[in-house]
Order: sequence, then C-alpha cells, then structure tokens
Amino acid sequence: MNCYDCNQEHVERVALGVCHICGAGLCTDHTRETKQSVKINQAFFARVTVDPLQRGLLCLKCGDSMEAKNQAQHSPLKAHN
Ligand SMILES: [Zn+2]
Ligand SMILES: [Zn+2]
Repeated sequence: MNCYDCNQEHVERVALGVCHICGAGLCTDHTRETKQSVKINQAFFARVTVDPLQRGLLCLKCGDSMEAKNQAQHSPLKAHN
C-alpha cells in the first residue's frame, strides 16, 4: 500500500501505517502519532491510568480534525443566540 496523501501530490511512497479514523495509508511525513491514556476500573471504583500510553496513528487531516474537536469540547459553553 502507498501513502494516500503522497498519492494526492502525485508522489509514490510506501505507507508505513494506517490512519485509524479514515483508513488512509500513511508515510512518516503524513502521520500524526497520538498518545491516549487508558483508564481501568479497579476495586472501590478507583480509576487507574495504565502505563504506557496507548498509541494511535492518524493522518494529518484526521489529526487536525481531532484537535479541533477537542478544543471545541473543552472551550466554555457559549450562549445560544
Ligand atoms: Zn505521505
Ligand atoms: Zn485519517
């Protein structure tokens, strides 16, 4: 499989990973690595974060979209008007 984004730029480059959202093949230049904490429930409802963090691979577009989504979710609510 070749990198999808390189292909858009008419370049042929072998993909080293796959975006886990859109499924596009990714070369290293078009990959964004994410680190997600994984929490598990333990006794007495204690939430414990597992080490190491979970790795995720995203293309740059899905990475940007994810970032925008996180920012929107974490920004204070605005009045509906
Ligand atoms: Zn590429
Ligand atoms: Zn993607």
